[in-house]
Amino acid sequence: MSLIVQKFGGTSVRDAERLRNVAEIVTDTYQQGNDVVVVVSAQGDTTDDLIAKAEEVNPRASKREMDMLLSSGEQISAALLAMTIEGMGFPVVSLLGWQAGFDTTTDYSNARIKKVNPARIRQELDKRRIVVVTGFQGVNRFGDMTTLGRGGSDTSAVAIAASMHADLCQIFTDVDGVYTADPRKIPGAIKLETISYDEMLELATLGAQVLHNRSVEMAKKYNIELEVLSSLTRRRGTIVKEESKVEKMLISGVAKDDNIARISIIGVPDKPGLAFKIFSKLASKRINVDIILQSIGRNGTKDISFTVEKSKLEDAIALLQENAEKWGASNIVSDDNVTKVSIVGAGMESHPGVAAEMFEALFSRSVNIQMISTSEIKISVLLNKADGERAVEAIHEKFFETA
Ligand code: ADP
Ligand code: ASP
Ligand code: MG
Repeated sequence: MSLIVQKFGGTSVRDAERLRNVAEIVTDTYQQGNDVVVVVSAQGDTTDDLIAKAEEVNPRASKREMDMLLSSGEQISAALLAMTIEGMGFPVVSLLGWQAGFDTTTDYSNARIKKVNPARIRQELDKRRIVVVTGFQGVNRFGDMTTLGRGGSDTSAVAIAASMHADLCQIFTDVDGVYTADPRKIPGAIKLETISYDEMLELATLGAQVLHNRSVEMAKKYNIELEVLSSLTRRRGTIVKEESKVEKMLISGVAKDDNIARISIIGVPDKPGLAFKIFSKLASKRINVDIILQSIGRNGTKDISFTVEKSKLEDAIALLQENAEKWGASNIVSDDNVTKVSIVGAGMESHPGVAAEMFEALFSRSVNIQMISTSEIKISVLLNKADGERAVEAIHEKFFETA
């Protein structure tokens, strides 16, 4: 007998028909003699709808109350799925995050899982019940509900798999695996049979929302193999695991992230210590900075540009403006009409010329590059938002569609 964790995303539990479909997958697994823990997201667009409702009553609602509201979406789908399974004659119980032992940090709306104490889940499994757990939520040390950040149900599933040493963790979604690009946007995207944790982590962090990046980080840490598959076809999905020894793919995928903004600090004195002052100020307010570009000094001054998550733009600008005079900066400008397009691949480390090929693809469609950043296994470029889709198409074509 194995312990299997199965996670179902919003489209997979969208309505009664889809719930029934999920219940069939779950009960089939149960009937094969396995212990089954199911993690569910909120139905369809519920989380977005709840955010819109909050906006109507208070656009500046506290994060605590937002978490109180948003966590309700998963409660509905967990109860409905349990009822569906119950109706099919199987023993089942649904549990909220706190009942399932999800102990999180206090960061409302973006809490981290500190630990999962699966005692209650274990007790229920021992009674041969199917256990349905709400994804995306936990409880903090004040006894308040917290949520794990958008897309966080994937991480809930991996956390349960890790804490219970599950034999298998399946992430069911609305596509049948991880592709070389978003298959909804790029018709020529190719399904990957396997992908390494490191590459998947980069892709997820760089905008491929098919997996929450923290779920991949946790899977790597605890060496949990993940399978990403569709809840609608019973086809094999993509396995995310430790790098295979066989040949590495040169490039495993292209990702795009629109949730980004560029800030430029213009005309700061060209002397040591300024970058330190600026970025430590941002870090002190927990503003994460991504691509950084500093111009060559000219006439004793230089410009420093960097990108931040869109939701942090306002806070970052306010903070920089407060300090601009002290730093001797002449101006602060920002642009949220940008997008970041990246390629990821473990093979590029040992292959010169990948960057040139990527830039050639962009040139072929007259796409202008604003900023570039690279690491051993990825290259990212910042572009005008309007060029984003075209850029992904061109790059995907260059690396995957030309024979
Ligand atoms: P769920 O609600 O099941 O968690 P998500 O919407 O969070 O589903 O993630 C699935 C979506 O991720 C797909 O519908 C697809 O459009 C998108 N996606 C983006 N990049 C990729 C990729 N490289 N491979 C597969 N899907 C991707
Ligand atoms: N329901 C949450 C969201 O929409 C969590 C998830 O789907 O993983 O972000
Ligand atoms: Mg998701």
